[in-house]
Parts: sequence; C-alpha cells; structure tokens
Amino acid sequence: MTNGSPYPTAIIGAGLAGLSAALSLTTLGLPVTLFDKGRGPGGRLSSRRSGDWRFDHGGQFVTVRDDGFKAVMDKLRASGQAAPWDGRIVRLHPDGSTVPHGVERYVGVPGMNGIIQGLIALLPEAARPHFSTRIVHIAGAPGRWLLQMEDGTSAGPFARLVLAMPSVQASDLLRPVAPALAVRADAAVMAPCWALMLGFDQPLSLSWDAAFVAGAGGDDRPLSWIAHDGTKPGRGQRATFVAHASPDWSIRHLEQDADQVGATLLSAFRAATGITGDPAFSAAHRWRYALPTLPLADGFLWDAALCIGVCGDWCLDARAEAAFVSGARLAAAMGVG
Ligand SMILES: Cc1cc2nc3c(=O)[nH]c(=O)nc-3n(C[C@H](O)[C@H](O)[C@H](O)COP(=O)(O)OP(=O)(O)OC[C@H]3O[C@@H](n4cnc5c(N)ncnc54)[C@H](O)[C@@H]3O)c2cc1C
Repeated sequence: MTNGSPYPTAIIGAGLAGLSAALSLTTLGLPVTLFDKGRGPGGRLSSRRSGDWRFDHGGQFVTVRDDGFKAVMDKLRASGQAAPWDGRIVRLHPDGSTVPHGVERYVGVPGMNGIIQGLIALLPEAARPHFSTRIVHIAGAPGRWLLQMEDGTSAGPFARLVLAMPSVQASDLLRPVAPALAVRADAAVMAPCWALMLGFDQPLSLSWDAAFVAGAGGDDRPLSWIAHDGTKPGRGQRATFVAHASPDWSIRHLEQDADQVGATLLSAFRAATGITGDPAFSAAHRWRYALPTLPLADGFLWDAALCIGVCGDWCLDARAEAAFVSGARLAAAMGVG
C-alpha cells in the first residue's frame, strides 16, 4: 500500500538519487518499482570496463557530510564496497607547481559503481532495479500512472512517480503530463564533460595521484581534472588514468568526433603529466549531462496533486552527495504527503 493506494511508486532512474529515494521509501514501508535505461548499475557513477581495463570515467569520488549519507557509506565501507581515498590530491598550476587539496574523499570499490551496487544490495529484493528499461512516455492519471517503455510494452498502474535523472531528460518526460514541473526542471543548467581514459602496460607514477588543473578551459589547457585511477583503493596500482575536460571546453567541442577529442586530450594529458609513452588503451567518452552548473535551490520537486516527484543532484548541488540528499528529502516529503 502506498499512502492508501494499492499501487506501488515507480522510480525512473536508478542512480544515486533514485536509489536513495527507494531506500527511504522502502524503509517507510512503501513499495517501489525501479527502472533504469542503463545496462547495469551506475548512472553517472559508472565504471567502464574494456578487456581487463577498468576506469571510473564519471564521478571520481564522493564527499560525505550528510548524516544519512554517512550512515549508508559506513555500511558500504563495512561490506568492502567503498573506502576512503587518501590519495595525494593537488591543485596543479600552469607552471607545474602543486598545492595539496586535502578534503576527506571516498570511492566505490573496486570501481565507483561499487557504491551503486552496495545501495542496491540494501534494498528489499522486490525493489531492485529493472535495467535496460528506458521509459519514453508517461500516460494515465494521478494515482494510476502508466509508463511506456522503448520496446513498446508498458508498466503500471503506479500510485506515484519519481523522476531521478538529469534535468533535461526529466523535463522531456514531464512536459506532457506536468508542464509546470518541466518548467522548474528547465531552470537548472547542466554542462557536458568529455572524459579521456588511458591504460598503459608499464607501471607509471607521478608526484601526485590526482590533480584539479588551475586555469583550465582554453584550447591550450582543456583538462580540468587528471587522476591516476589505478591508485584508488582496490584498483591494484595499475597505470590507468582518467582526465576530464572543463565544462567550457566540453561545450565548445560537444559534437566533435570522439577519436579527435581523444587525440587532443591525450596531447593535453602528456603536456600536464610529462608521461610521453603510448597508451595500450585509449578512449574518449562524452557525458552530455555531467554536472549542474546552475542547480536549483529547492532540494527536490514534489507535486502532491499530480503525485509526481523529481530529484537529482541538479535539484541541490553539483556533487554526488547532493543526489543522495535530494532523493532522501523527496522521499521524506512523499512519506507525509
Ligand atoms: C564526468 C563526471 C565527473 C563527476 N565527478 C564527480 C566527483 O568527483 N564528485 C562528485 O561528488 N560528483 C561528481 N560527479 C557528479 C555525480 O556523478 C552525480 O552528481 C551523481 O552521480 C548524480 O546522481 P543522479 O542519481 O542524480 O543521476 P544519474 O547518476 O545521472 O542517474 C540517473 C539515471 O537515470 C537513468 N535514466 C535517465 N533517463 C531514463 C529513462 N528515460 N528511463 C529509464 N532510466 C533513465 C540513467 O540511466 C541513470 O542511471 C561527476 C559526474 C560526471 C559525469
């Protein structure tokens, strides 16, 4: 029963925000059904595997300040799916000098999606996500929502809906049934990010494990973040690296061919690190909606009359932790409304 209805709540999007909402709602005794278009768990905290290479090509680490998020992360640390990252993280200046950038950071183990897998394991069996399930249309009416999938099938009815995905994707689904919520989602701005993944056969080391690159964004300095991914806990010290282009550079090169972007970013990586050897593995990935550059201040959106809620990092702040907090706050509002 969902607040008097015989139908469950559908959550579209099983990233950190959707899973956080699912955890809170099921803890309140409210049944949920989770859908995600991805082939496996992760969302923007995905890990990319290719052969025996493995990369965190999206979210790099999480910060843990919120009590609810800390309680969950403590469970994941106990189950070995998350660990503190005590790497040498610096701010890298154009003259090559570095300044330590020490903040408490945590990562998933053995990849960032360990956090997502750990959250899924905390859910009751019936609430675990259905993957490879893209929702393309919302039909029905409040209290009896129906979801249409890309393959032509549909699911429902659902008492209430939660949309837990980047703002542009949420807005597209909301517009026909909840235009006012779509307008709110359209007020958030999300920037893309081109990510470069590099794997080397020979061991390599730098004087730092990851760097925020100062003054990034121009064509001469596209990279804003470079990480020796293999130095994170549980990655076996492999010579794997992930570098992210700045939002400005990624916007300017959004539609460029991935191989061309990869070549440009590899040159920038070489210039910044002094690593000149040829990588055994190299690939560029485009995140079309990577991080909110203009998030809402609301924390979440909830229309009690329509029985539709919306959550995600873009409702609060440009951090993974904000996605978790947004999902939990929405669920708390739904639990009483
Ligand atoms: C390159 C990059 C670097 C980052 N670095 C950091 C960092 O270092 N630290 C940090 O704190 N944060 C970082 N972030 C941000 C962090 O990853 C996000 O804040 C967080 O993962 C967002 O979670 P979410 O649940 O709101 O959204 P998402 O993780 O995007 O989850 C949304 C889910 O919805 C699914 N979905 C979308 N549309 C549909 C549909 N129609 N039907 C079904 N499913 C659908 C998607 O498959 C996805 O799994 C980074 C993000 C990127 C991309």
